[in-house]
Amino acid sequence: MDKPYNPYLNGLQPTPKEEVAPKIKNGIYTIESPTNGHRTFRIKTQAETAKFAPGTRIVSLLTGPDNNNHYQGFAFVRQDENGFNLWKKYRGIHDERTEYEWYASMLLDMLTNPESKCYKTGYKLLREERCIRCNRRLTTPTSIRKGIGPECEKIVR
Ligand SMILES: [Zn+2]
Repeated sequence: MDKPYNPYLNGLQPTPKEEVAPKIKNGIYTIESPTNGHRTFRIKTQAETAKFAPGTRIVSLLTGPDNNNHYQGFAFVRQDENGFNLWKKYRGIHDERTEYEWYASMLLDMLTNPESKCYKTGYKLLREERCIRCNRRLTTPTSIRKGIGPECEKIVR
């Protein structure tokens, strides 16, 4: 079946679904900065029935309050598992690096390189947790460490 035309896909190789042991694993990851808050990312395989890029793996940034749904895609996981292909509109012009390029390079390095300079400079990579009371997804560093969300914490306290 032909994939729907999309300018961001043009020239990029989607990940084949027969890939069984990816180096870059799907999941929800939060990067905590030593000085400036945190960002949450999702790496997910698109459903075969998805309108956009079915069967490919997409890297997204959490951009809203709902950590189940408010993700904005900005890159594909490369077919060879050696990196991310940033979508054109998130790439900088000339030597400029967009914040998405920084996110992509940090996330990739922290996911694949235990000796990453990011770790040495105080950045942390946290995997999602589930709230011990309601089982909702936890993505903020404080909640991940406590194992409980802020609303539930008020109730059990
Ligand atoms: Zn909860």
